[in-house]
Amino acid sequence: MTYAMQKLAEEKVFKDPVHRYIHVRDQVVWDLIGTREFQRLRRIRQLGTTYLTFHGAEHSRFNHSLGVYEIIRRIVDDVFAPRPEWDNSERLLCLCAALLHDLGHGPFSHSFEKVFELDHEEFTQAIILGDTEVNAVLKKVSSAFPQQVADVIAKTYDNKRVISLISSQIDADRMDYLQRDAYFTGVSYGHFDMERILRVLRPKEDQVVIKSSGMHAVEDYIMSRYQMYWQVYFHPVTRSSEVILTKILHRAKELSEHGYEFAYEPRHFMSMFSGNVTLKDYLNLDESIVMYYFQMWEEEKDPILSDLCHRFMQRRLFKYVEFDPSKEYKKLNKLEQLFREADLDPEYYLVVDSSSDLPYDFYRPGEEEERVPIHLLMPNGELRELSRQSEIVDAISGKRRTDHKLYYPKDYLMDDSSHKETKEKIRAILGVSEH
Ligand code: CA
Repeated sequence: MTYAMQKLAEEKVFKDPVHRYIHVRDQVVWDLIGTREFQRLRRIRQLGTTYLTFHGAEHSRFNHSLGVYEIIRRIVDDVFAPRPEWDNSERLLCLCAALLHDLGHGPFSHSFEKVFELDHEEFTQAIILGDTEVNAVLKKVSSAFPQQVADVIAKTYDNKRVISLISSQIDADRMDYLQRDAYFTGVSYGHFDMERILRVLRPKEDQVVIKSSGMHAVEDYIMSRYQMYWQVYFHPVTRSSEVILTKILHRAKELSEHGYEFAYEPRHFMSMFSGNVTLKDYLNLDESIVMYYFQMWEEEKDPILSDLCHRFMQRRLFKYVEFDPSKEYKKLNKLEQLFREADLDPEYYLVVDSSSDLPYDFYRPGEEEERVPIHLLMPNGELRELSRQSEIVDAISGKRRTDHKLYYPKDYLMDDSSHKETKEKIRAILGVSEH
């Protein structure tokens, strides 16, 4: 029997709080889970710094990746397999792409990508195609297989139907993370009837569509996505911790460039600082290592680095006020000047952060989140784009909501033991009071 077809002597089952059980029968899938690069995902949180806002949000990308795999496995094995329009030869490809789709995420991806100009999707490709344990497993299936898996994840694979299972407006990735993030944060949004959605998915031509009778379950999914974005993913406190994390990385990089002598030399960061990170270095970095440095750097001589690390580790976050960059740039200039007078470098202590999201979108090609729209399969066999059928979805389609906040260290500004007058002026401009 070929490796691709090989089944485990006994099915392996993972207990999972979201899907109850995750079933593995294929030898290839089992071997991939056991690789060094996949196990690394245990040490990378799914939601980055969100655990500082919602203390339950400690779940990892390992959890999420298994969850996406399980959703795909159920769609392929339970819903699609008996259908004549489904080609079962792509089953293993779907399972592997689902399992590995987030493989290239690093620690606190968001901030690291911003500061060091990295791209986790490039690393996913590099891990699948490079000299890694994952590549060795995939190559045993066939010499072309690693490239096929990489192509599905990069959305360049020939069969668009396979891609739309993994990345579209309603895909296994989103269905897993919405439910998983809701579960671990403990919020009451984020829940929707996935069982119903799975039952009404249909392979049709080059995409996966939804029987029109399932429209209300899909509406619920879109609304829960909308709620999760604003209540969890863009939570202002999480953004504060991300601002601090980003500024730590900036500071460490800047110090390194200026020849600062670290008491705890950032060996693991060196190739990132210099802008030519290798795959090996990248894979060696995980959140445990990053946190180790942050804890050590609390004792660095550089006051900015040590203060920011102290803030991150002890959760002494920045506070914020609403900010309108189109109208308030003069105010920002004035604040920057006053911050300098108060011995606070505005580069690190006065930060504008913006978040924006499109709850559902179908017509804007080329935007950052270009995903296949949701099509309903009508009783007469025609396809209809969701927002043309659903008034609820139409109401929120294509509307980008953007939110800007100005972050600053309130604790420092409230302490009148130094720069009392300047701080009073700053507080007046920011509208900061004791409470
Ligand atoms: Ca994902």
